Amino acid sequence: MLNIVLFGPPGAGKGTQSQKLITKYNLVHLSTGDLLRAQIAQGTELGLTAKKLMDEGLLVPDAVVIGMIGSALETNPQAGGFIFDGFPRTVAQAESLDQLMASHNTHIGCMIALEVQEEELVKRLLERGKTSNRPDDQDETKIRRRVTVYNTETAQVAGYYAAQKKFHALNGIGPIDDIFGQICGLIDLHQAAKPETPAEATKEVKA
Ligand code: ADP
Repeated sequence: MLNIVLFGPPGAGKGTQSQKLITKYNLVHLSTGDLLRAQIAQGTELGLTAKKLMDEGLLVPDAVVIGMIGSALETNPQAGGFIFDGFPRTVAQAESLDQLMASHNTHIGCMIALEVQEEELVKRLLERGKTSNRPDDQDETKIRRRVTVYNTETAQVAGYYAAQKKFHALNGIGPIDDIFGQICGLIDLHQAAKPETPAEATKEVKA
């Protein structure tokens, strides 16, 4: 199984690169932002609570997003792997993800971070806001709050993966296909170095 965490501030290009990666590596894309917006669209209680926080650019409670990811893993038992986008956003979420992966006899292969400076992020998100219909993309104060939340609460998740020697950073500014090529290069290196855990190898032989 190939499980990748795509990391970076809002507007770094995680969604764009995820779409290309799922096709190339046959992965299931799990974006907590998309899962939350689906809850909002369905008008669920969870969606209503999340919307207030999301519209302000604040994080939704860990238990909510961890629960959503747990369910998504259960509903995709045939997946060849997952790409996590916008999750984990706190160290508590990263710890839970490791536990969830272990309970499915797999693990996170690597985290790839896209680095983009704040002024470029603000520019990209305001541009996206013209068509995304997302209230959090249409107000510069909210955008800057999301970047601040990323710097204060989320950036430390990189250290969690660095401690496991799974962290890689790339410049997120440049042509989309060039960045995609660099991401693929890192994934391919990782796969060549660490094909799979013994448990996964046994599982695949049995299957
Ligand atoms: P972006 O990366 O552009 O901020 P997302 O769709 O990933 O967009 O997230 C939008 C909002 O959804 C976040 O600002 C936050 O309120 C909420 N959210 C998404 N993922 C998480 C998460 N893992 N933990 C907490 N809140 C989250």
